[in-house]
Amino acid sequence: MKKVKNIIVGFGKGGKTLAKFLAQKGEEVLVIERSKQMYGGTCINIACLPSKRLVIEAANGVDFVDAVKGKDEMTAFLRNKNYHMLADEPTVKVLDGQAAFTGNHQIAVTQADGTTEEFTGERIFINTGASPIILPLPGLRDSQFLLNSTSAMDQDELPTKLTIIGAGYIGLEFAAMFAQYGSQVTVVDHKKSFIPREDDDISALVKKDLEDLGVKFILGAELKKVTDREDGAVLSYVQDSQVGEVFGNKILAATGRQPNTADLGLAKTEIKVNDRGAIMVDQHLQTSVDNVWAIGDVKGGPQFTYISLDDFRIIKSQLFGDGGYTLESRNIVPTSVFINPPLSRVGLTEKQAQDQGIDYRQFKLPVAAIPKARVAKNTRGLFKAIVDPANQQILGATLYGIESYELINLVALAMKAKLPYTILRDQIYTHPTMSEAFNDLFKG
Ligand SMILES: Cc1cc2nc3c(=O)[nH]c(=O)nc-3n(C[C@H](O)[C@H](O)[C@H](O)COP(=O)(O)OP(=O)(O)OC[C@H]3O[C@@H](n4cnc5c(N)ncnc54)[C@H](O)[C@@H]3O)c2cc1C
Repeated sequence: MKKVKNIIVGFGKGGKTLAKFLAQKGEEVLVIERSKQMYGGTCINIACLPSKRLVIEAANGVDFVDAVKGKDEMTAFLRNKNYHMLADEPTVKVLDGQAAFTGNHQIAVTQADGTTEEFTGERIFINTGASPIILPLPGLRDSQFLLNSTSAMDQDELPTKLTIIGAGYIGLEFAAMFAQYGSQVTVVDHKKSFIPREDDDISALVKKDLEDLGVKFILGAELKKVTDREDGAVLSYVQDSQVGEVFGNKILAATGRQPNTADLGLAKTEIKVNDRGAIMVDQHLQTSVDNVWAIGDVKGGPQFTYISLDDFRIIKSQLFGDGGYTLESRNIVPTSVFINPPLSRVGLTEKQAQDQGIDYRQFKLPVAAIPKARVAKNTRGLFKAIVDPANQQILGATLYGIESYELINLVALAMKAKLPYTILRDQIYTHPTMSEAFNDLFKG
């Protein structure tokens, strides 16, 4: 059994950033990745970047098949770049193989040819990510027309009719995207209310805009079964006591992602997982075993690449700093859903402020009032923000409109710096831009 200073299981965002950081300190690092097609992790290969490329190409009117080809070229480039970023470091070894624990600090790596190597790690970082959940619905898992988010982006022809199970954020991104490529999209969800965490005015606008793109919604549907036909699959459901059916040439499961822990051999360790299979960690991301940490999606909680990256900062703070940056320090996390137009949010919604009995002042601006939106010929949407009347700090913002995925980071910065909203209101912005909307949004 070989002894290694640092073992990173999985080539994810936080793990690869940590590997590079450790290498630059001259430390020995072993990065274990089960698939050569996943060097660089989920985000660059099968998630954020390929999906956003396809989203942008759909809005640009590019043909689906051409867009998929371009996306593949991009991911191949990034995969190679990521591989060399680590493999070219003299103290890093990237090992292809499936890793599983054989003890608290021991890991066996099984390679494609069946050979196994064992390692003991002084420090071990688990960064194995998450995989799509397939609901236990009769006929779904075995349907030959079943897609997940990965295979949906690898089709060699556009599905004419696409059924999407799940009106969560990934489901909606794919719905908007495929509708713009020309698919007839139906989204089915068991929840009655649409994106219930958002304020009602925002969710009503988003739903209408998606319907205008051609997306159909079947909400409050109890899913019954999937039956394959020659040319596609029929999804049967009950909605308001009525039996219904929807047909798709393909059926996309977008019902969440579960942490990749099942094959990790954790039963041979004292590393604890919760009832969802996520590795349990403390404020410093340490697992229940000393010198073993978990990073990114595998530890549960919000599943974003920038959370995995921020996990690296927590670990760096603990190992090389004063340990002051912890999970608790992470309190302002912006999010974006890349539909058309994008929906972005940070901090509290109006609904959350009301539920929590927090006093607030509200600001609203229709996107149609912003000159840049008119120039860009996309005037859909609404910007909202709430501020604390006592200290004028921003409590939260929901920005539904073009380029909101950029703007939300400005609001998050103001919140983190505890700036009064008047700074954003009175800032000089270039023109015509979407950011100058803050001059008007906060005018009140
Ligand atoms: C369609 C889609 C779109 C998304 N869009 C966005 C977005 O726009 N923005 C955003 O921030 N997030 C987005 N996400 C979420 C984001 O992709 C994830 O949160 C992020 O990639 C998680 O990274 P990670 O560091 O946890 O590990 P990952 O990047 O998931 O890496 C885990 C790695 O571990 C490997 N592995 C697993 N088990 C083993 C094992 N036993 N042995 C060896 N290797 C193993 C895997 O092959 C994988 O390469 C999206 C997700 C999806 C599915």
